[in-house]
Amino acid sequence: MDHYQNFINGRFAPSSVQEDRIEVRNPSTGRLIATVPETSQAGVDAAFAAAENALPEWSNRPAVERASVLHAVAAKLRSHVEPLARTIVEEQGKILGLARVEVQFTADYFDYMAEWARRIEGEIIPSDRPGETILLFRKAIGVVAGILPWNFPFFLIARKAAPALVTGNTIVIKPSEETPINAVKFCEVLMEAGVPAGLINVVHGRGPTVGRALAGSPRTAMVSFTGSVETGAAVMTAAASNITKVNLELGGKAPAIVMDDADIDMAVKAIKASRVINSGQVCNCAERVYVQSRVADEFVDRISAAMRQTCFGDPLGEEPVDYGPLINEAGFRKVETLVAGAVRQGATLVTGGERGPGEGGYYYQPTVLTGCRQDMDIIQNEIFGPVIPIVKFDELEQAIQYANDSDYGLTSSIYTRDLNVALKACQDIRFGETYINREHFEAMQGFHAGWRKSGIGGADGKHGVYEFTQTHVVYLQRT
Ligand code: NAD
Repeated sequence: MDHYQNFINGRFAPSSVQEDRIEVRNPSTGRLIATVPETSQAGVDAAFAAAENALPEWSNRPAVERASVLHAVAAKLRSHVEPLARTIVEEQGKILGLARVEVQFTADYFDYMAEWARRIEGEIIPSDRPGETILLFRKAIGVVAGILPWNFPFFLIARKAAPALVTGNTIVIKPSEETPINAVKFCEVLMEAGVPAGLINVVHGRGPTVGRALAGSPRTAMVSFTGSVETGAAVMTAAASNITKVNLELGGKAPAIVMDDADIDMAVKAIKASRVINSGQVCNCAERVYVQSRVADEFVDRISAAMRQTCFGDPLGEEPVDYGPLINEAGFRKVETLVAGAVRQGATLVTGGERGPGEGGYYYQPTVLTGCRQDMDIIQNEIFGPVIPIVKFDELEQAIQYANDSDYGLTSSIYTRDLNVALKACQDIRFGETYINREHFEAMQGFHAGWRKSGIGGADGKHGVYEFTQTHVVYLQRT
């Protein structure tokens, strides 16, 4: 078993015998696979110092030179896809194919963000005064704190570090304590790629201690956080004492609306994929389905059949599987409680609803529930598992009203062949993203930004790059 360390100022910090260690387990088997440190305040301070020392030279480099460092990271990542993917599978439990996609996508994301280097432009603003020019610059903010969840742990490193670096910031990252090993492996890639010391630092630890120390530090210029709504509120509270900028990517409860003219095959395929990918543990995926009454029976029959055919188990086992375990016992209990609660409140279990076989792992059967109502917990709360709760509706207006009736506002989708229906939905639905006739999954050139409690600010694309900049306006008076 390996005992991993923090990565500070371009190298792995020496370990201390007194260190409190966090155990990392494989969710497929429950087996202990590694430990990482619970970083002390001195460790957090050392990471800040490294990021601060690297900042002036880095932010003053021409952006295109910064971009070449990002391209170098992307190239090295592509030469280690297989071992990196296996690390992700071992500690997080997604299937190998998806883990490979995650690593490739992470490399692509570094390249994509590097391409912004020559396009981060300022503005020249017309003045009211004769002889005056007003210039708006976009500048680095400083040291960014990136706090990560466990569900796409490797990609999330890129989503924080790549835009932070291309805009001239440096970063201190805290991976989730559930999935820290992939971040260690990422740092090994940084060393191989020759990334200058101090640009990216990684400190391990629990949220209320190390996460809190990062979010609440006056040395943090911006916190970029991805995780649950509850923790997002705690991060905001910690950041408030220093008026630190927060960028929050939080939970979702995405509605999928299936109209009676929809291509039902396509809707079934996309919604099933949305609930099965990563064992249903994805913030943007369809989490509640609204089906128009006339096609409800057909849709329920088909999606239940598709879910029954889905196989799950140890992603590194002998048989190929569609999905693996849930992340841990607490995650498993949450899914179990929501399904049991829905049945108690009157929903009908069409298929699933039980713990799956698999020694030591947190496996949950593919599950479909019908007869769900808007007031049920399973329709209002995020469910991180392979579960599809279905509600019937008669008219589009009703479906949109149900969809909007949520604390969350991240993604949404509609399946219809009628362009007018799709346009009406786009006009009235109150979410950061809407997918029409396709599965829920955002593109790196879009803007992933939730409404309501799903977040503040966003990630990806031009707007995601600008999140990591601050403006400086200069008034230039000709004398
Ligand atoms: P979480 O909120 O439990 O933890 C996220 C991170 O916050 C972890 O690193 C944790 O250690 C840290 N943390 C915990 N308490 C803290 C505190 N008081 N101060 C600072 N940091 C603290 O979330 P999770 O269980 O790791 O991830 C699942 C959640 O993430 C889901 O709600 C999911 O929807 C959301 N998510 C959102 C997006 C998005 O793009 N909107 C993407 C992925 C995941």
